[in-house]
Amino acid sequence: MLAAVSDHALSEATMGAYVAQEMATGALSAAQGALAQLLGMPDEGVAFVESATVALGTLLDVWPFGAEPSIGVVPSEWGPNLAAFSRRGLRIVELPVDDDGYVDLAGLERVLASSPPSAVHITQVASHRSLVQPVAAIAGVCHAAAVPLFVDAAQALGHVDTATGAAVVYATSRKWLTGPRGVGVLAVASAWFPGLRRVLEVLEPEAPEEPIGALLSSRESHVAGRIGLGHAAREHLSLGPPAVWQRLAAVGRATRQLLQDLDNWQVVGPVDDASAISALRPTAGQDVMAVRARLLGELGIVTTAQHVFRAPREMRGPTLRVSPHVDTTSDDLVRLRDALGSR
Ligand SMILES: *Cc1c(COP(=O)(O)O)cnc(C)c1O
Repeated sequence: MLAAVSDHALSEATMGAYVAQEMATGALSAAQGALAQLLGMPDEGVAFVESATVALGTLLDVWPFGAEPSIGVVPSEWGPNLAAFSRRGLRIVELPVDDDGYVDLAGLERVLASSPPSAVHITQVASHRSLVQPVAAIAGVCHAAAVPLFVDAAQALGHVDTATGAAVVYATSRKWLTGPRGVGVLAVASAWFPGLRRVLEVLEPEAPEEPIGALLSSRESHVAGRIGLGHAAREHLSLGPPAVWQRLAAVGRATRQLLQDLDNWQVVGPVDDASAISALRPTAGQDVMAVRARLLGELGIVTTAQHVFRAPREMRGPTLRVSPHVDTTSDDLVRLRDALGSR
């Protein structure tokens, strides 16, 4: 992956950026194909942008919402997404969840039957705790009600199955696929092409024949990063994604099992959630920022001190996030437990 990125940077320097880009056409469509496969989307619906944040912004700019647009979300929704909805004047409709924050499918069905929002937006894998929403089942309910489902897969791509039947899925390169920074992906299912095309024909009158993915892609771009993301996606596919997903779920459960007996920290949410991400709530007034700094400075253990802005409808105070990848060992986890137990 790194070699593909540096090779492209070198060809930009030696041949010129536009020539290098033309020569990379094959690599770029292979990247689109690999992402289409992981997201369960048609190749031509896959757009490259700079980040998941840009993907959502682009989506909200071009989606053919009617008058008085609204969006259905659950309390665990990622804070910056809520801010993006508000900035664009979308009324937020809170969808029903169970005690652990999972979408209540029967409740969702009732909301969509009685007063459907213009779209439903679900963050598939929460950033701030171990919650993984049942997006395939949610997509089924939304499809039956003809309400588009938008999925934030920023923490899901490369972590869980992201081919779920949603109308739109967007994600980032740099998280679980460990691809280059500065690249994101926005993918749309073909049923929604005609509506988008009507909007895009007005916004991009000079390129009406281009595929939807090309119309939605950012113009000036980090081409080497897009090629790198394609490599990361193909490397993930060649490892056999289910094996990676299972390993990540197992490492997350092992983390929560090991940390659930700590005296001064409480694991947030069910131990058997399917995410590799875990969150710990301080129960003895510890300063999460200071703990994070100590773990990194003294032991080289990277954690995250996360603030309420990540999930403002749900979080009540800062928590410590632990986000191991496939290569984390049980010794690593024991070291973390011992370090947390000592303070
Ligand atoms: C990181 C993250 C984003 C934003 O991704 P960027 O690529 O940094 O813009 C969006 N949603 C969730 C759930 C995230 O964790």
